Amino acid sequence: MPKKPLLEFTDSGIYCSQGRFYIDPWKPVDDAVITHAHSDHAYWGHKHYLAHHLSKQVLLYRLGDINLQTVEYGEKVKKNGVEISLFPAGHVIGSAQIKVEYQGEVWVVSGDYKVENDGISTPFEPVKCHHFISECTFGMPVYKWKPQVKTFEDVNSWWRTNLDNGVATVLVGYSLGKAQRILQNLDLFNGNVYTHGVIENTNQALRANGVKLNPTIRITPETPRDEIRKGIVLAPPSSVGTPWMRKFGPYSFGYCSGWMAIRGAKRRRAADRGFVLSDHADWDGLIAAIDATGCEKVYLTHGYTASFSRYLNEIGFDAHEVHTLYGNEEQEATEQLPGSGEEAGKS
Ligand SMILES: [Zn+2]
Ligand SMILES: [Zn+2]
Repeated sequence: MPKKPLLEFTDSGIYCSQGRFYIDPWKPVDDAVITHAHSDHAYWGHKHYLAHHLSKQVLLYRLGDINLQTVEYGEKVKKNGVEISLFPAGHVIGSAQIKVEYQGEVWVVSGDYKVENDGISTPFEPVKCHHFISECTFGMPVYKWKPQVKTFEDVNSWWRTNLDNGVATVLVGYSLGKAQRILQNLDLFNGNVYTHGVIENTNQALRANGVKLNPTIRITPETPRDEIRKGIVLAPPSSVGTPWMRKFGPYSFGYCSGWMAIRGAKRRRAADRGFVLSDHADWDGLIAAIDATGCEKVYLTHGYTASFSRYLNEIGFDAHEVHTLYGNEEQEATEQLPGSGEEAGKS
């Protein structure tokens, strides 16, 4: 009888039967190893969680009082003879690739990752393995990121133009990862940074975890509108088109996302400016990362899985598509997070 693979794809998530644990399961399980705190990877309802130390406060904020064990990168945990260790994924603060090893066989689950150093997340580190389970959110040749310093030059000059024109500046990016990446790369000589409640709560959780972030001011109904106009507003995707956002008018509204690389994306989100900024690897980044693992087999969990696996097979990889529930963080369900709707209903 052929031996069971070390990791399997089940209805509940990626499963290690030898170690009796799941990785990023989407149904409640007894033992879950979590790559990062985005809502499509860190679900509520597991009996035990294992994650990176820097995800701790954000996970507790998002999921409540969970039974959570945290580790540093490279630290080893054994479950029924199976060795688990976490390596930097460079996606958001605290994000990890999960390395699973048993009797000389190594599997790595990437979670979400990017290969560019964003200055706030621990930079991505390739891990040698036999089997690599990879995302491919932007697995199409059209997705090629320019260095983030160029994108932030564009953001800063757009902000300065708005200041000259006397209009408020509202910049949208998801609350865990993108918001902090923007915050740390803005030219703060321009003015203060004002935050939506959901972003400020995430900042607070990260600061409680020891992460040093630039100063921010939480927007309340009392915050003077003319002061806000002299700074920049960081807002989550869920706030787009809400009365909360409209009350900053007149404003210019920018959107930071990898999807801005394709035509029509800005218009569909009704944004004035689209900035191509993603926390995922682009086409070249994915291929380089997969190649660097030296893997025998690669499994693609979310994104352009069909066309990307076809391409990888053409260039000599043994690639397979698998079905998972990952891949919806850019439309993250912030409505369900505490603090998200607090000002949305007021005009
Ligand atoms: Zn993610
Ligand atoms: Zn994801």
